[in-house]
Amino acid sequence: MATIITEECINCGVCEPECPNEAIDDGTKGGVDIYWIDADLCTECVGFHGEEACQEVCPVDCCIPDVDKKETEEELLEKAVKIHADQDFPALEELTNETSLFRNPERKNADL
Ligand code: SF4
Ligand code: SF4
Repeated sequence: MATIITEECINCGVCEPECPNEAIDDGTKGGVDIYWIDADLCTECVGFHGEEACQEVCPVDCCIPDVDKKETEEELLEKAVKIHADQDFPALEELTNETSLFRNPERKNADL
């Protein structure tokens, strides 16, 4: 699942610099008046963090999984590898609770 930003967004901008994939912008790219996530670039932070970095910093908890865009851990890791062709990532079986939300039951959106 890519992450989406809901209408509760207060346009604080705190999430934008936290995204490892530069998937978030102020809405200009998405044609909306709140912050927006490019689903093609969102990897749910797999390979980088054990939770959605945007949701971790969002003061109103409005970065949530898009249930209409379900992706597996393997697909998200492959996406990260493609986006960051110059970087090394752990193999799928080497991901941990610190590098994949799939392995982190403590994350904010674990119940979604
Ligand atoms: S979940 Fe991670 S990759 Fe997706 S938009 Fe948020 S910070 Fe970026
Ligand atoms: S941190 Fe939350 S409220 Fe602030 S811009 Fe990002 S999505 Fe909107």
